[in-house]
Amino acid sequence: MDAMALLTEARAAGLKVNAVGDRLRVRGPAILEPLAVRLLDAKTEILAALRDEQDVVIPPPESCRMCRSGHFWRYAGGRFICNLCHPCPCPELVVEKITLAATIPSAMAALLEAHGWEPCSANFWSNR
Ligand SMILES: [Zn+2]
Repeated sequence: MDAMALLTEARAAGLKVNAVGDRLRVRGPAILEPLAVRLLDAKTEILAALRDEQDVVIPPPESCRMCRSGHFWRYAGGRFICNLCHPCPCPELVVEKITLAATIPSAMAALLEAHGWEPCSANFWSNR
């Protein structure tokens, strides 16, 4: 079985598979341990497959339908997720962040910040 097929199977079963630096992180319910062990046995191939996924170009989204924010982030292989409605829970898993140009009027952004919203730091956004 090739690495991508194994990765797909593992995710479908409910495992979360991520590359953290040159390490492979597999998380999920204990019952899936045999599958997790297979992933870890194929670590080199799985890491390569994860890297290939990151190379896939994901088209940037429109501004968020819910909040009109232009701040988005995504996991490897994932779609962009609104950083305002769904802030990234774990920054090390983020492979890309983007900010769409001028999607929040500055007065609105100031109001949001006054109520505790913190835009991510500038150097964390890859595509300004
Ligand atoms: Zn939103």
